[in-house]
Amino acid sequence: MHVSISDIESTERIFCNRSLNMRNIKAVGFDMDYTLALYKPEQFEVLAYNETLKKLVSIGYPEEILTWTFDINYMIRGLAIDKLRGNIIKLDRHRYVKVAHHGFRELSREERRALYDASLMQSYEEPDYALIDTLFTLADAYLFAQLIDLKSKKKGEITKNPSEIYRDVRNAIDLCHRDGSIKHKVALNPAKFIQRDPKLRETLERLRRSGRKVFVVTNSLWDYTHVVMNYILGNDSRNLTEEWMELFDVVITGAAKPSFFMAPNPLYEVDPSTGLLKNTNGFINTENKVFQGGNFRQLHDQLGIQSGPEILYVGDHIYGDILRSKKELGWRTMLVVNELEAELNSLARHKDEFRRYEELLLIKDDLEDDLQKSQIELEILNSTQKNKSKTPKTDKIQRLQAEIRSMTGKRDSTREALRHGMKKYHQNFHPVWGQLMKTGHQNSRFAAQVENYACLYTSKLTNLLNYSPNFSFRSTRDFMPHDFI
Ligand code: IMP
Ligand code: MG
Repeated sequence: MHVSISDIESTERIFCNRSLNMRNIKAVGFDMDYTLALYKPEQFEVLAYNETLKKLVSIGYPEEILTWTFDINYMIRGLAIDKLRGNIIKLDRHRYVKVAHHGFRELSREERRALYDASLMQSYEEPDYALIDTLFTLADAYLFAQLIDLKSKKKGEITKNPSEIYRDVRNAIDLCHRDGSIKHKVALNPAKFIQRDPKLRETLERLRRSGRKVFVVTNSLWDYTHVVMNYILGNDSRNLTEEWMELFDVVITGAAKPSFFMAPNPLYEVDPSTGLLKNTNGFINTENKVFQGGNFRQLHDQLGIQSGPEILYVGDHIYGDILRSKKELGWRTMLVVNELEAELNSLARHKDEFRRYEELLLIKDDLEDDLQKSQIELEILNSTQKNKSKTPKTDKIQRLQAEIRSMTGKRDSTREALRHGMKKYHQNFHPVWGQLMKTGHQNSRFAAQVENYACLYTSKLTNLLNYSPNFSFRSTRDFMPHDFI
């Protein structure tokens, strides 16, 4: 059965930034957390948050924070934390700060412009800024905002500065991911924390049937990977089995991405039945499927890959999964953006509203151009008048002045209507931060990263099932402003 792309629901589509012919792909690899395994944020992220609160109290934060709750929908990906000032900011692709909050208080335009002077050309990157670029770090941003809020409202309650607060939050969350506070609980009851996608098995099986090698590269360690993979591939019993491994040619755990794509790391064989590690001393037993660490070189050998572009790697983290694998190795990449589904639904619902603002934008541009023309005309008239001293103001000057006053009024009210309208339009997507992929009329910084680094992007990996394994993904034609003459 031939299905044309336009028949596929937009939320089920794969979008293409850079053309990719699947015929040239010999191996398809997957990240695990938030790619193969979709967590239920209202359970998983809340668990991470609650465990982090306990750790913060243990290092001296007030006990009252244990009563706090995490609004998982408040923060969005692509925001940046300003560690020095205690702010959360949203940037557009030119790195203009378009929305800024101190804790939960929105900064006025004047405050924002004074703090984030565009002429300083800041990069808004580490060490003074932290990017919220995975769903795991939404809790970092929320907890940081809560603590900043507490610091501003109750003077003396927290004496640390915002940078120190950020460092404490980051370290506490990091520890929760590493010391078992989160993973032991998930392992005891995966169904509570992880969503199952009924199409996952078929998606993987079809890739293998099409002759592709299929692999996993995850930063999670073997014991956790084994639990999660058992659950997402349908094993409901408490007894873990190795059945899921039949779907994969190679499984790399503890990969330490993005360093996996660049540096030589020690490689161990994992014995799946005991979880014990064996040093490989550089010699790879091809009978074995599961490894820990290593780097892309031995993976290419294991897969029989000659060059990077023969691999398609699917992941959810721009920095961890996508940027380095593409830049350093030329792997083709697909980014999974779970939030895209809601974004596409809102886009469809508010299409007409968007068109109205686009029209208003053109009206405002025309008004500004006309106003500028009249102002220049007035300047010229005034200067000629000065030379012929003593001549009274001509009718023309008076008429022009009146026109300019009226046009200025119209321009200001149109600007205000547009500003107000765009804000309202953005609130359809998110009440605080607006659309994920846009900031005002521009692409957001997150959107620019998706465009630059992900060959393909989609809301979930099982959308691959909607396309033949030999499908040729084609990007839209590139446009520059002069193309529209
Ligand atoms: P992947 O997405 O399959 O590569 O796995 C990501 C892994 O990173 C998971 O095991 C997460 O628990 C872990 N992780 C996420 N955030 C942190 C952190 O802040 N510190 C340490 N590990 C983390
Ligand atoms: Mg991941």
